[in-house]
Amino acid sequence: MNQLSLMGNFSKPRLSTPIANPSICAQCYEKGQSCCTYRKNTTYDMITIISKFEINRILQVFPRLNRSKAFVEKTNTKTFEHNVEELFPDRSDAVMRSFMPGKTHFELSTTEKGCRFLTPKGCVLPRDARPLFCRIYPFWFRNNEAMVFFDTHCLAIKNCSTIQEVYLAIGTNPSVVKKIFIQLCCEWGLEKSEAKVAGIL
Ligand code: SF4
Ligand code: SF4
Repeated sequence: MNQLSLMGNFSKPRLSTPIANPSICAQCYEKGQSCCTYRKNTTYDMITIISKFEINRILQVFPRLNRSKAFVEKTNTKTFEHNVEELFPDRSDAVMRSFMPGKTHFELSTTEKGCRFLTPKGCVLPRDARPLFCRIYPFWFRNNEAMVFFDTHCLAIKNCSTIQEVYLAIGTNPSVVKKIFIQLCCEWGLEKSEAKVAGIL
């Protein structure tokens, strides 16, 4: 999870007429440049944190999944702590509590190509069972403000001039994305309300 930066007030000169393009992620997969793959010669790295709630949803779909192959337990190193704090600068106390130095967290297991759940046809998981970070990408929130990751390979970001256009291109909307973010914060232990974990989506 290295050097992913965010763009607030995302706005850039229009290159072409924006169009709703729900297949934009499929095009990304075809190019081998999707957010599920490693991208050569870039500083981009996949964000692969996965909580016990997200693991359980995947195990409900694939009960016979080899858990130790699909998920890796890793120590919370200083670099890891720093990277999570970069994602949540407004929740640094909660980050320290949830990802205590020296303790462990789980990550999606990867191959040399990218995520282990990635197939030539895209993600093998049904949408609802995908990790929340996968479901929210390329959007994020800081201090309640919606933004997108600075990702030059993301076709949606490349082809759009505003965050509204990115919502349209990905086929989502601000309300869905915000709900996913809140659920992610709950399940990663960064929100106090356990009730939200139970049923926000
Ligand atoms: S779980 Fe699916 S959506 Fe998430 S990184 Fe892996 S292949 Fe992509
Ligand atoms: S979110 Fe962006 S980077 Fe990920 S598959 Fe879709 S267009 Fe590509």
